[in-house]
Amino acid sequence: MTNARLGTAVPGELSRQSGGSVYLVGAGPGDPELLTLKAARLLASADVVLHDDLVPQAVLRHAQRAIVINVGKRCGRKNISQEQIDAMMVNYARQGLSVVRLKSGDPLVFGRAGEEMDALRAAGVPFEVVPGITAAFAAAAALRRPLTDRRSASSISFSSGHHAPGSSLEPASLAGATRVVYMPGRNFAEIAAQLRSQGLPSDLPCVVVSRAAQPDQQIVRTTLARLDRIAPGPAPAILLAGEALREAHSDSVVELAGIALSETGEPIQPSAL
Ligand code: SAH
Repeated sequence: MTNARLGTAVPGELSRQSGGSVYLVGAGPGDPELLTLKAARLLASADVVLHDDLVPQAVLRHAQRAIVINVGKRCGRKNISQEQIDAMMVNYARQGLSVVRLKSGDPLVFGRAGEEMDALRAAGVPFEVVPGITAAFAAAAALRRPLTDRRSASSISFSSGHHAPGSSLEPASLAGATRVVYMPGRNFAEIAAQLRSQGLPSDLPCVVVSRAAQPDQQIVRTTLARLDRIAPGPAPAILLAGEALREAHSDSVVELAGIALSETGEPIQPSAL
């Protein structure tokens, strides 16, 4: 694919003729099928891709003609600073190149995109944001439970286990919300204590989903009372807590015994499924 399309008037897209541009693109949670069509097209036409560690190879394969650089903190360039990433984006764009800054999930959720967009604005580099499926949505899909439910949860809170000193997980006004904690780390006791201090009940459903939407996905279900005792699965993992995650009886039976039950608990004959 050539860059011809980027040079034409595609609504809502930057023009290559403007002298290079940056796309902050969401790669989704890991399943390459959960990538947007727009992300795939921008990757295919990119000159440079700067990606984080959590972006899988299967997604990077769309970048057929680009220089692909891992700017992640873990297995990529160990000492790369945020300022260096900002400078790379700006410098490549100033060379007239199409730069995709590829982040796992959605680029605007716990991805330092705020700082990167500030740097691009300060440098006068045009940029566009392409949303992706955030880990919370992949985790809820894995659980087959809603994040909101008109019977039990009318709001959602996304917070980070890596929070600033002194900040609590979320304001008390979020009573009844489904809590989603990104980067929970391995210290679930601390998170459990915070949730308990908000007066949440000990039987509140808590679920840790590791590697959501990936072939080795793992789900550990527990309650707030036992949250501090769970063995965290492999990274990346995300914690969800809330009444809306409570397993319907039929769900558990379907998963455990392979017997389908109707809403009322009656066994469903395979012919009726
Ligand atoms: N921008 C990303 C979040 C980046 S922060 C997004 O929108 O999803 C990184 C954290 O996201 C990880 O520590 C983990 O808590 C969560 N995460 C990312 N991918 C995940 C996955 N496939 N399964 C579970 N958690 C995931």
